[in-house]
Amino acid sequence: MPHPQQPHAILEALCKEQSLALTPEMLDKLVEYGRLLEEWNNKINLISRKEDAPIIIKHIFHSLLITQHHTFQTGEKVLDLGTGGGLPGIPLAIIAPQATFLLVDATGKKITACQEMIATLKLPNVTARHLRVEELHGETFHTIVSRQVALLNKLCAYGEPLLHAKGKLICLKGGSLEQEIKQSLEASQKHHGFPARVEEHPIDEVSPIFSEKKIVIAYR
Ligand code: SAH
Repeated sequence: MPHPQQPHAILEALCKEQSLALTPEMLDKLVEYGRLLEEWNNKINLISRKEDAPIIIKHIFHSLLITQHHTFQTGEKVLDLGTGGGLPGIPLAIIAPQATFLLVDATGKKITACQEMIATLKLPNVTARHLRVEELHGETFHTIVSRQVALLNKLCAYGEPLLHAKGKLICLKGGSLEQEIKQSLEASQKHHGFPARVEEHPIDEVSPIFSEKKIVIAYR
């Protein structure tokens, strides 16, 4: 049995509480990703070094919470906009092998780190590309995910030409979002028509570190 404070046991308990069924192989890969992320973070800045909570909770489990509001389908194409060190794209790709994930970021060294981690983890359903999302043309996605990247109206402007007709943008955000959502709906009425509707979901009762965090879903 792993020690209860070990990342493996922590993650397994949290996922069970959320009724998120993971295979032992998925759990192993998520824990291994946490270890790689920490290792890379010592070389280049990928995630905050503030040690207020373990990486496995603060970054990896946080990313998995998207599955509370979205079920990844077979053949679904997902874009992670501004992935940094692979968040939320890599954890989601580990638990949703039936979908394919493209991770993009404007910072080359972050994408190099992602590519190395994807190779080490042997994830066949993920690709990482160094580019600004504005430069991505000729591809469309069923879903765009994004964690702590930009204001909602900016994410929607980036996402609009890249999303399928029934696609949605799911982002992990912090703090008070009332103004941000209002601005984004106003911009949509004036310009690109996306989003038509926005949902804001608090993350409750999981862990106090998520008390200020929200899952925001923008629909066409
Ligand atoms: N999602 C990651 C990183 C957040 S930091 C996480 O949760 O840890 C924000 C990232 O977005 C940075 O790595 C930055 O390079 C990237 N980014 C910002 N604007 C971008 C754009 N227009 N295209 C691609 N990446 C962008």
